[in-house]
Amino acid sequence: MTLKKSFETIAVSGISGGDEATGAISFPIYQAATFKHHGLNNSTGYDYARAQNPTREEAEKTLAVLEGGKSAIGFSSGVAAITACIHLFKSGDHIILSDDLYGGTYRLFDDIFRDFGLEATFIDTTDTQNILNSLKENTKAILIETPSNPMMKVTDIRAVAEITKENGLLLIVDNTFLTPYYQRPLELGADLVVHSGTKFLGGHHDLLAGFIVANDEEILQKLRRIHMSTGATLSPFDSWLILRGIKTLHIRLERSQENTIKIAKFLERNPKVEKVYYVGLENFEGYEVNKGQSTGFGATLSFRVKDKELIPKILERVKIIRFAESLGGVETLITYPITQTHSEIPEDIKKRLGVDEYLLRLSVGIENIDDLIKDLENAIGK
Ligand SMILES: *Cc1c(COP(=O)(O)O)cnc(C)c1O
Repeated sequence: MTLKKSFETIAVSGISGGDEATGAISFPIYQAATFKHHGLNNSTGYDYARAQNPTREEAEKTLAVLEGGKSAIGFSSGVAAITACIHLFKSGDHIILSDDLYGGTYRLFDDIFRDFGLEATFIDTTDTQNILNSLKENTKAILIETPSNPMMKVTDIRAVAEITKENGLLLIVDNTFLTPYYQRPLELGADLVVHSGTKFLGGHHDLLAGFIVANDEEILQKLRRIHMSTGATLSPFDSWLILRGIKTLHIRLERSQENTIKIAKFLERNPKVEKVYYVGLENFEGYEVNKGQSTGFGATLSFRVKDKELIPKILERVKIIRFAESLGGVETLITYPITQTHSEIPEDIKKRLGVDEYLLRLSVGIENIDDLIKDLENAIGK
């Protein structure tokens, strides 16, 4: 009888539980670019590391199972994974995207691939009517982030999946913020899940990685060919770091989320703060929809201060919290989206979303919560 293992158990041991041959508990780093053939037409299954590498495969298989997908493909960064998704389309195709999303994703669609004839529309996907209004003859896919970055807007994955299924479109969900520990979009009807493994999966701000997870073998075959041909593959060492990061994903996320809830409540009470954007607050707009499709709220929040003169002071005064881009690691980071992660989003969209000179984003780590709150209190004032 095969035991159906739970998330935490798979995360800790990985798919193979270490190395069969030696008994090593930690899966080996196969730091090899090429592999010897036993004879003509007699490959070990490994030829060249851009096509196959055992350490990368262990990371891919582990993440695939955790996401509830058939296979995963490991890329050298999150944007490399999104670029591979774009290569599924061709000149003249139209893609609908959430308007509140990672700045690099925006840049890929609006700049790099617009020159190749790909058409992109950025809309508020939290209202499915907007999606229906944006559908065109040549629409091929919808790409969403939920909760979104940095305004934490929640899109109903099941509702969008209904639209994509009815219209023969692909639904791509960027699951970086909640990870499969809290949200599994494939089970809600998504076709492709993409990740920046740089964030929570890696978890320590020390690597770049990206993944695509899917169920459909035909799409997977196309994506594997794109992956191998365009070459932005995940290195053996970074694959190992991802495996290492995934081992503690559940406990890191739980502690980070616990800290985030406390920080969100602290910020809500602070008179210098105008509004807190966090899906874990019951009075927050996306709270109910998020609860219906995930089991957690994650560890990223944004907040708006009343006086923008306070922003440079906060960024200089924080001592434990670091003023740096990125998110999802054990260290708490504070970001100023308008000049950092979202600098390339056009002014009109930023204005519509509220990504302005008053907004800061926090990625909450696993430090002592009292230290973090004291640090914020000292930086923001009472
Ligand atoms: C960081 C991020 C990306 C891009 O990932 P990289 O690993 O930096 O290339 C994509 N989507 C989201 C939601 C992100 O936060």
